[in-house]
Amino acid sequence: MRDTIDIGIDLGTTNSAIALAEGDTVTVIKNNESQDTTPSAVWMPRAGEVRVGLKARGRVESDPENTASEFKLEMGLADVARKFVRAGVQLTPPQLSAEVLKSLRSDATRFLNDAPTAAVITVPAAFALNQNKATVEAATLAGFVPGSPLLQEPTAAAFAYGLQDTSDRAYWMVFDFGGGTFDAAVVNKRDGELRVLHHAGDPYLGGKLIDWALVERVLAPAAASEFGLSDFRRDNPRHARNFARLKAAAEEAKIALSGIESTSVLVELDTPGGDSETFDFTLSRGALDHVAEPYYVRAINLCREAMRENGLSADAIDKLLLVGGVTLSPGLRERLADPVAGIGIELETRLDPSTVVARGAALFASTIRHPAPLAAAPAAGEFAVELSYEPAVTTTTTTVAGRLRAGRDLDWTGYSVVLANPEGRPPFRTANIALNRVGAFATEVDVDERRTSRFTVELIDPAGAPQKVVPNTLSITHRTETFGGARLAHSLGIQLADKTFSPLLRKGAGVPTTETGRFRTSYTLLRRDDEAMIQIPVVQGERVRANRNRPVGMLTIKPVDLRMDLPVGTEVEVTFEVDASNLVTVVADVPLIGAQFEAEIDLGSVRTPSADVLTQQLAEAEDRYDVLRQSADLPDVDERLRRLEAEGTLPTVREQVRASATDAGAAATAEDRLRDFQAELDDIDDLAALPRRTRQLLDLLAEAGELVQQSGAVRDEQELTALREAAQQAIDDRDLKAMDAATERTEIFMARLYRRQPGWYEAVYWEVVRSPGMLPPTAESDRLVAEGRDAINRRDQRAVEHVVQQMIRMLPRDEREIIIGLTQ
Ligand code: ADP
Ligand code: MG
Repeated sequence: MRDTIDIGIDLGTTNSAIALAEGDTVTVIKNNESQDTTPSAVWMPRAGEVRVGLKARGRVESDPENTASEFKLEMGLADVARKFVRAGVQLTPPQLSAEVLKSLRSDATRFLNDAPTAAVITVPAAFALNQNKATVEAATLAGFVPGSPLLQEPTAAAFAYGLQDTSDRAYWMVFDFGGGTFDAAVVNKRDGELRVLHHAGDPYLGGKLIDWALVERVLAPAAASEFGLSDFRRDNPRHARNFARLKAAAEEAKIALSGIESTSVLVELDTPGGDSETFDFTLSRGALDHVAEPYYVRAINLCREAMRENGLSADAIDKLLLVGGVTLSPGLRERLADPVAGIGIELETRLDPSTVVARGAALFASTIRHPAPLAAAPAAGEFAVELSYEPAVTTTTTTVAGRLRAGRDLDWTGYSVVLANPEGRPPFRTANIALNRVGAFATEVDVDERRTSRFTVELIDPAGAPQKVVPNTLSITHRTETFGGARLAHSLGIQLADKTFSPLLRKGAGVPTTETGRFRTSYTLLRRDDEAMIQIPVVQGERVRANRNRPVGMLTIKPVDLRMDLPVGTEVEVTFEVDASNLVTVVADVPLIGAQFEAEIDLGSVRTPSADVLTQQLAEAEDRYDVLRQSADLPDVDERLRRLEAEGTLPTVREQVRASATDAGAAATAEDRLRDFQAELDDIDDLAALPRRTRQLLDLLAEAGELVQQSGAVRDEQELTALREAAQQAIDDRDLKAMDAATERTEIFMARLYRRQPGWYEAVYWEVVRSPGMLPPTAESDRLVAEGRDAINRRDQRAVEHVVQQMIRMLPRDEREIIIGLTQ
């Protein structure tokens, strides 16, 4: 068995590839057809027979009922499966991906004469937790051992590039535009360490959208009018085959137009009469670029955002590394190179964009120790060793430590080990390293520069006789670069009872990592209720409103063996732990009473809404958009609206919504874009509200000023000055969140001043008592009302205050806020 994983797999939407790293050499393993890449398509010609790759790809148009492709976009969704009519089976996205992985694995088996049991599989940085989890599931189904790690695609690409680059310091931006997903990452190389500083991306932006846009906006309308086809729509099952052919022809033409200026699209179309007709259409590069433009613009905007969030300008970045098939298109390259319309960073195209991710994954794999199969305890007379060392280093000496185990209890005094690398330059051998009583040792070894050094482990017993030990080898590779660690591409947290997002782990946090948050229960958990549980949606994203972020699963917290009821407000500690592959586990507990909780995060529960629901959401979003467009006259608002227009958001969403009835990937795409669109409209709404909100804040401050004059206290004046400054800053920055905070602080300040005014509590008392239905109809309320009246009659201010405070606590939260504001 290998000591390190060494195998990297790019499991792409369109194409997949597998590579092997040995020392500094990376080999892309060719498939049966002698190709470096294998189309991610599955064809089942009959029950029990599965074909993957080019053959399957060719069937997408001629035999769509028995073929599946582009299923990566459906990874992580519950209840999604592709039907294979002839075989009479359905496969889920992880099962389909597993077929692709098996095919790549068998190519590697042929190449190595040995089946690899572990591999590093890449995922888009933009993937959320549930999508990563589905990828791990696919790996397991394909026969890879648990513990095979995931790596983010842009990181892999940067790693492959790093090997070629000799500079000490550099900033790069990876621009990976594939068939289904778009990823961008800012990478920093410094003192031999590669670090991903920032990710941005869209897991539903890819060449596939361009193909469909060509079909829907150019080819289908032309075909419909030429052959007088009514109801010629993608979601019409009668034309499913025609649309599959048009899509394939569109993609072929798109690829051809990367080499030539104009191409003819020839498609056989079935007509309602049962005949077939040849549709012949000439497509120019200009027409393609026009259709593709909004998708390019969106990718470029995402890159700009990544730079802005990271405080980097284009001049600070040395190279833009082009990755993914779509970056082969001249239209995109021209736009990217343009300093105004593009990003203004020099393009780097030296590496083959279709295998660079697999190469980088293999390089990374060679730095990861092979996950050992669960070691059985050694039998009597046998010896095992647990080794710990860094499998990839940038120094030429490093430490290896280990601990021996025997089949029986043993005093290890007198035993020793030797580590040797007879092929080293020069050959290397340690002296006899004596084991301590428990069988542990540590030593330094020399490693050769820029190579893999393989060491043998020899065990020598007190009599000087060699003993067999497993494992008896280890390898360490010297590199000029190491990987500075993966980062979380999106903040991760939970949705609170008030529907706001509470992030626990922040975007950009290095992983593996763990974080604990403290929350309070919003309802009572009863001891006698066996089913008592708390269910909390888990989301990833950066927006304040939980439902504007991507849902990834459901967290269920169940008390185990409650000894008492847990009232509302009981503190629960939730700990999220994310590993280097971006997989998450969660633990919950109640610190006060030491109650045990069973916490489980279900990442298989994310469903896309039905086509009807999506259609309705689209209509709502369109209405909102129209209203904003008509009312907009602020420059900021106009600019944001123009961006939505330039990214073609609405036409894309409309197309995806229409396709959602027959295409789960389109449904996921539509939902994601709609969510993003709504969030964008929220922001624009806020911007549009800026003048009104500014006025409100200033009015509030003026009112506070009058109150302070009445009070005349120096301390109040000082506080008001501070409030005014904070508010002015927020207004100058046009920062709504800061304005909200300033408003809230001012309100709290004013409430305090009001409370100090004589008669305030009495006024609140009457307000509450005279508003019907405000207090709950309980004996407790009646008692308070009577007590309050007595206190007022006695002119006992303290007693009135005491009663009112109890009353306020009985009110629902909204009412409480009204009370605080009520006062005059
Ligand atoms: P993925 O990572 O999604 O598997 P790839 O990086 O292989 O994808 O890119 C596939 C996408 O690139 C597809 O949309 C394909 O049509 C497009 N593509 C491939 N070759 C070219 C080309 N020469 N010009 C333009 N687009 C291309
Ligand atoms: Mg890719």
